[in-house]
Amino acid sequence: MVRTFAVIGDPIDHSLSPAMHNAAFLETRMDCTYIAYRVPRGDLSAGLDSLRAAGIEGYNVTIPHKVAIMERLDSVSEECSLIGAANLVHDRGGRRRGFNTDMEGFLRPLLSRNVPLSGCRVLLLGAGGAARAGASGLAARGASHIHVCNRDTGKARGLAEHCSKMGVSSSSGPLPSYVEGGFDLVVNATSVGMNGGPSPADMSRVPPGVVAYDMVYTPVRTSFLEQAEGADAATIPGWEMLLHQAALSFSILHGRDAPVPAMKRALLGVFD
Ligand code: NAP
Repeated sequence: MVRTFAVIGDPIDHSLSPAMHNAAFLETRMDCTYIAYRVPRGDLSAGLDSLRAAGIEGYNVTIPHKVAIMERLDSVSEECSLIGAANLVHDRGGRRRGFNTDMEGFLRPLLSRNVPLSGCRVLLLGAGGAARAGASGLAARGASHIHVCNRDTGKARGLAEHCSKMGVSSSSGPLPSYVEGGFDLVVNATSVGMNGGPSPADMSRVPPGVVAYDMVYTPVRTSFLEQAEGADAATIPGWEMLLHQAALSFSILHGRDAPVPAMKRALLGVFD
């Protein structure tokens, strides 16, 4: 029998997860399929019941359910506890277990480029769920200081406090109009720049050698990345984090290595 997996959220129509996971099933000849399933805000409990009734034993979780799902899980991984959110659920034997692959998915592109994270001075733009996953990963890897900037400065303060509790020096403030020196890594974890919008802060004056990492993945080349490239900064596009969090989800759900090249082809094929 074909086993079905899913990604749940709202909106969900444009999720890129089905393309990556179905390509992985094809590549590994697994008799499985992966669907996008809309679960509206406020309908999470009913949505989870439906998934269980349909025999769907594994699903990714996206906006707006990553935090709300935590209280409906029977157990959670260490990463979930640290971040306070889950993006993957394994529902087996009547028990739901939560995982978070965003943090490791965020770190992998940095680690594969040998970006030194220990002692790294970070400027983090944004204070939502993705920013929290990034900040937790950077704090766990020994960043020396994390400055959190956000439109809602109260949320920036809250995330800076989270970093301090993890033992990292931190500060917070409003979004700057432009970014200059004083940082080794600048991360855009706001949703600003999606679908061709402007950069959340002008990156054209960033010093050469700084690493500019955009979590936004549509378009592939955002204004944030283009401005940073123009200033000779090293850049990391958001699709890489998306790919790695999906590959990790695949490994956790299926207990085997993910066929990353096939998933990458499927992901980048969507943008062509
Ligand atoms: P979220 O929890 O809703 O947070 C959204 C963030 O964007 C907040 O910091 C919010 O600031 C800021 N923001 C939204 N509109 C803004 C505006 N007009 N001006 C200034 N700031 C604005 O969402 P999230 O889950 O953290 O996701 C954030 C981004 O990361 C999204 O683009 C998402 O697609 C991307 N993401 C990528 C990956 C990946 O694998 N590449 C994974 C997860 C998320 P306020 O607090 O002031 O509202």
